[in-house]
Amino acid sequence: MIIPEKVKKIVQKLNDAGFEAYIVGGCVRDCLLQRKPQDWDITTSAQPQEVKKIFPKTYDTGLKHGTVTVVCEKDHYEITTYRIEKEYYDCRHPSQVIFTKSLKEDLQRRDFTVNAMAYHPKEGIQDYFCGQEHLKQKKIQGVGSPKKRFQEDALRMLRALRFSAQLGFEIEPETYQALQEQKALIQKISAERIHEELEKMLQSQYLEKICLLWESGLLNEISPLLYQKMLQHGTNILQELKTAPLDRIIRWTIFLQYLTPKEGEQLLKDFRFDNHSIKSIVMLLEHLKDEIPLQEYEIRKKACEITPEQLNRLFLIQGQKKDTTKWLHCLETIQKRGDCITLKTLAIKGKDLQKHGIHGKEIGETLSFLLDIVHRDPEKNNKQILLEYTKQK
Ligand code: ATP
Ligand code: MG
Repeated sequence: MIIPEKVKKIVQKLNDAGFEAYIVGGCVRDCLLQRKPQDWDITTSAQPQEVKKIFPKTYDTGLKHGTVTVVCEKDHYEITTYRIEKEYYDCRHPSQVIFTKSLKEDLQRRDFTVNAMAYHPKEGIQDYFCGQEHLKQKKIQGVGSPKKRFQEDALRMLRALRFSAQLGFEIEPETYQALQEQKALIQKISAERIHEELEKMLQSQYLEKICLLWESGLLNEISPLLYQKMLQHGTNILQELKTAPLDRIIRWTIFLQYLTPKEGEQLLKDFRFDNHSIKSIVMLLEHLKDEIPLQEYEIRKKACEITPEQLNRLFLIQGQKKDTTKWLHCLETIQKRGDCITLKTLAIKGKDLQKHGIHGKEIGETLSFLLDIVHRDPEKNNKQILLEYTKQK
């Protein structure tokens, strides 16, 4: 396994101080699959206070849960003390975290067997729950009783689907059955966490697995409206997502395309999207069906209305249903050439008009009139020429 030197050093330092330490979780899984890990997590028998004594630069991430972040040059690594989680309340949070001296107990509290492996550069893989075998079989299986594990923390149901979509794995039958039985518990999970998992699913490689979201019924508990749309159009949507660019705004718009802009907006608000994303996605939902003539004037005008970036997205989305390469090419040419698209680059400003005796409401009207002239013929974006037009008007 190829482990960064810095990570090895952290493990070594903990060992030198007399503690056990292992690389753990997603990064071990990803290394075995020859995927690039998102981050490197370390699990140790040392208590947070002891970890803090060993490393010069640390900050507290979740002391109660035993997590300290070690800063090594510019990189950050989470070091978590071996722990057991006791009695979950609200289907998400353990009421008590108990530190333990046993690596096996720490691995046992983790969600899926493929996520429950540890690795030590000298001792190799520590695998108590058949994680390696399940990696080979490409399956997501709960550690222990999946039913109990989903009852403890309902977010794990969405994580199961997300890992399935990211890795292209099947969900093991008992785990899937438990998920179907416990699906209503997802309602206890915060909108932010659901949003985060769906976001990762939409960016994942094995998009066809997303159909489990509605086939299992889980989506009905998250959004009955979206669930209904997916039963009807899901297959087509997944087909379109497969060939769509990774841009998250584009992906969400395709995913929500059968909602009205109003319904889309409500859903995005419910799932605590930031205002900028809401605005972008809703705007695209509003314009999805626009038929824009393949003429430079129309494209400049539309780019001005919704911004060139959004128009580019619109053509890419529409491109999933018809060939829009010519439109994309035309927009690209317009941008490369630096044609004037908005008032920002118009060669004449409100101040100039004032100097020529135009005031109040008339300024805005005149600027729009001039911008339209320039949209028709970008060569006319010249102060002298535009002043002439103003006089004629
Ligand atoms: P990613 O590629 O998204 O980082 P990951 O498997 O590393 O995937 P993280 O959320 O970073 O997932 O969590 C790291 C590890 O912590 C997991 O691999 C798993 O062992 C454990 N873990 C995380 N969330 C849970 C959970 N809700 N229940 C049980 N174990 C969890
Ligand atoms: Mg991770």
